[in-house]
Amino acid sequence: MHDHETDGHRARKRFGQNFLSDPNIIRKIIDGIRPQAGDLMVEIGPGLGAMTAPLIERLGHLHVVEIDRDLIARLHERYTPAQITVHEGDALKFDFGSLCAGLAADAGPALRIVGNLPYNISTPILFHLAGFADRVRDMTFMLQKEVVMRMVAEPGTEEYGRLSVMLQYRFRMGRLFDVPPGAFRPAPKVMSSIVRMAPLPVDQLGAQDEALLGRIVTAAFGQRRKTLKNTLRDFVGDADFEALGIDGSLRGERLSVAQFVAIANHCSARG
Ligand code: SAM
Repeated sequence: MHDHETDGHRARKRFGQNFLSDPNIIRKIIDGIRPQAGDLMVEIGPGLGAMTAPLIERLGHLHVVEIDRDLIARLHERYTPAQITVHEGDALKFDFGSLCAGLAADAGPALRIVGNLPYNISTPILFHLAGFADRVRDMTFMLQKEVVMRMVAEPGTEEYGRLSVMLQYRFRMGRLFDVPPGAFRPAPKVMSSIVRMAPLPVDQLGAQDEALLGRIVTAAFGQRRKTLKNTLRDFVGDADFEALGIDGSLRGERLSVAQFVAIANHCSARG
């Protein structure tokens, strides 16, 4: 299979490059983001600039994180330093918190993150970004539809899993709309969706030990067919399930986020 060329650039598969080319979809995404002049915003993977141009037009200035040197060179040619700050490198390693360094101490969570994310790194990038939630105002992403369905899934459904619980613990999320493959060059094989994520207030989170919550959720979904009694045996026993009022013969996919938090806090309290 040969690479696809767009605007004189050969799309690189290893960087998950599918460039948005449908002006109506681009407008719809920008409307969904609602950029306001002066917002502190960073775009992950600007690529050939489909979203970058309208964002800069509305914001005045935009930060971008891009890994592909050819695309970075184009961005420098096209925009002035007053319009764009290009952070060259891997978004998975980028310190998004560093963008807030110049803000007043009482500025609150101000960072807005957007992007048509490279699908080959969707899950790791979502977990990396979750680590900066306390500085984030909102995030709007395009992802593979199947991943978005897992992010927003309700307990008891097939899509509900570790990604749903860990992200719903930290964010309020909503799927805005779907984007068909034909909106991109080259066209991806799968349907895409736009998802918006807004961090929940810190006092609503509730887990005393978030790392422990993460380990419990990972264990509960590690073997989906097994019951909680089985998958969580390193954490809780029959008496604990009874004290928590949770049926240990259920599978992890039946538990709400609040119930996972209750299990984690029960373990923290017990020491
Ligand atoms: N935003 C553009 C658009 O909508 O047309 C491009 C989207 S394309 C799906 C993903 C972009 O992310 C590409 O520009 C690619 O080079 C960049 N990218 C891929 N992996 C990356 C990484 N680890 N860190 C930063 N950017 C990355």
